[in-house]
Amino acid sequence: MYINGEWLAGGNSFVVTNPATGEHVGQVPDCTDADIEAALVAADTAFKAWKKTTAYERSALLYRAWELMLARKNELAEIMTREQGKPLKAALNEVQYGADFLLWFAEEAKRVYGQTIPSGRLNQRFICSKAPVGVVGAITPWNYPISMITRKLAPALAAGCTVILKPAEATPLCAKAMAEIFHEAGFPAGTVNVITVQNPARVGNVFCEDKRVRKLTFTGSTLVGRELNANAARHLKRVSLELGGHAPALVFPDANPVYAAKGLSLVKFLNGGQACISPNRIFVQRDQVDAFVTELASRAKRLVVGDGMEPETGLGPLINQQALEKVSAQVEDALAQGATLAAGGHRLTDNGLDRGYFYAPTVLYGVTPAMKIYHEETFGPVAPVIAYDTVDELLTMANDTEYGLAAYVYSQDITTAFKAVEGLDFGIIGVNDINPTSAAAPFGGMKNSGMGREGAREGIEEYLETKLAGFAL
Ligand code: ADP
Repeated sequence: MYINGEWLAGGNSFVVTNPATGEHVGQVPDCTDADIEAALVAADTAFKAWKKTTAYERSALLYRAWELMLARKNELAEIMTREQGKPLKAALNEVQYGADFLLWFAEEAKRVYGQTIPSGRLNQRFICSKAPVGVVGAITPWNYPISMITRKLAPALAAGCTVILKPAEATPLCAKAMAEIFHEAGFPAGTVNVITVQNPARVGNVFCEDKRVRKLTFTGSTLVGRELNANAARHLKRVSLELGGHAPALVFPDANPVYAAKGLSLVKFLNGGQACISPNRIFVQRDQVDAFVTELASRAKRLVVGDGMEPETGLGPLINQQALEKVSAQVEDALAQGATLAAGGHRLTDNGLDRGYFYAPTVLYGVTPAMKIYHEETFGPVAPVIAYDTVDELLTMANDTEYGLAAYVYSQDITTAFKAVEGLDFGIIGVNDINPTSAAAPFGGMKNSGMGREGAREGIEEYLETKLAGFAL
């Protein structure tokens, strides 16, 4: 752990396992209550000085961290592949995406503008400035174990907040490597603290209840996010939540189904489907289903599944046994209720894959609203295809979910695409675009997908208060 600029080994520890091989890849401390208190004291004390630094000083440190991250990108990607499982090339892409947030917020730090507002009174002046909210408790997930850290820490630090990070218990080694980078970049002791814990609720409760933490930022499941939000509400804390998703993909009749299948196979099987923006309901017009499913299934079958450290691997393992069981259960439920399998549909165990949690890239068609997979987030490499008859029903079907994070549209017609964007209740919409994400673009969802936005100009606002000064002259 990294508290107040120092490395702590702690007493008890827990092991980190490679989901592709079952090997132990590391061991990290299981924090005690005293460690949590030490991190709170450190972050609270450091805040008093950190908030008084200039944006230029904070920017320079973020810029330095960006340089260090890029210099160590191969090493970071290897750590990620070993503890999280994604193919090395995908891990490298994530490290780049993660570094982008450091650069973006090194720049945004200098653009935290206030405003002057005309008053109705001749002798009054209104001046608004921005102030950092204070100590931030950050909880990050295992599926994007580096970029979710920088997406939170970069804007928080740029704003002048100090941070206590609690990474997911499956991927603490990525967090440790990032703490090394912040340390080497020269962030003052206590501005960045990283605590690792096996039972995350212990830290979550403190983040919600301790008065010194003024802001909670969380990425993870809707179930946990809702609970944390309820607890934090009792103490009226600022909260940002990036939660689950159940992205629809709308393939309009004017789109080329083969082209759409190519794009959707790339985004569906990215990170083994373990992404909150992964397409989970693919709507294709009945006449086009054959052409679409043939292409999607052929791509699924060609994907090389294995250890992400092998150069030819295109799809890594799921994170753990529980994930494997959830995916299998959803597929079995769909098949029992009449869906048809075009590819995959089972766990992979040959050639040593039984040591890890591998599930074959799967394509299901004939999926209907009666099936679990139609409503529940899958977080696995399963592409469910749903046939529709008329375009009129499409938007209603796509919006028929408690989630509102990402949606994808395939159409060659500008009016169709525009109306789809306007009609979809989702925070992120890719139009013929399978990667509508960037440090420069706002990321976040509606409905049960959470609140607040990360990245972009908005990202830093989550860590700022507005302070109004009224002057009577
Ligand atoms: P997932 O199902 O994707 O693992 P979780 O919401 O369980 O999603 O995990 C996301 C993050 O939330 C991880 O860092 C995890 O340790 C943390 N977490 C899980 N349960 C709690 C909790 N009760 N309080 C605080 N953090 C939690």
